[in-house]
Amino acid sequence: MSRKPLIVGNWKMNGSFAKNTNLLASLSSVPNVNMVVAPPAVYLASVSAQLMNTSIVLAAQNVAAEGQQGAYTGEVSAVMLAELGARYAIVGHSERRQYYGETDTVVAKKCLRLQEAGLRPIICVGETLAEREAGQVETVVSRQLKAIIDNCGIDLLAQAVVAYEPVWAIGTGKTATPADAQAVHGFLRQLVTIYDKNIADNLSILYGGSVKADNAASLFAMPDIDGALVGGASLVANEFLAICHAANASFIG
Ligand code: PEP
Repeated sequence: MSRKPLIVGNWKMNGSFAKNTNLLASLSSVPNVNMVVAPPAVYLASVSAQLMNTSIVLAAQNVAAEGQQGAYTGEVSAVMLAELGARYAIVGHSERRQYYGETDTVVAKKCLRLQEAGLRPIICVGETLAEREAGQVETVVSRQLKAIIDNCGIDLLAQAVVAYEPVWAIGTGKTATPADAQAVHGFLRQLVTIYDKNIADNLSILYGGSVKADNAASLFAMPDIDGALVGGASLVANEFLAICHAANASFIG
């Protein structure tokens, strides 16, 4: 890995005050790795306090698409996330696309709100199994990423992270082979290169989908895989740390 590895733990709708405290107490920084955790919104403040004076960075799992203040019941704005100490927010996760109808247009709006607040979007893209079997992987991921570039401008990607997460690999125990993942990562970087080579060269493209301690090293050996978005394994301190150590081992600076 030539770009500094980024490992993001997406806790999804898991945790409690006690569990979070224990999990965070078991994490420690790993050389050459930017480590990020994304707890549920209600725990952002307490996790932020516990991360004070550590090198672990806070992310949100979601952000409001419309406005920074106002009549948007139930929403949390990017400015509020910034005030809580978050530096990143995940957008376009397949669970949000699938269960909450998050479209490419909504994902782009969320990116704009994050940009206004100085937060970095972690933009998830990825195909379903049916789309893969129909040979539509590149069509789907390029549509998802181009929607961001068209609506937000290419410069947004200088502050963003892209996560390739094949939907069929999330929480299923099935991982894309390193070669299959690399093919999509290389395609995405090439797509960004058409707009801006410098941004493309510096862009972190994470892989997500059942990354575990025992498959991380082979994924990180691929030239365009710059880290991981980790779901289930991020709830187990030793697994998450082992993934971070695998990233450090593959970093060639
Ligand atoms: C995710 O939630 O982004 C994810 C990749 O989950 P898991 O690692 O559990 O497949």
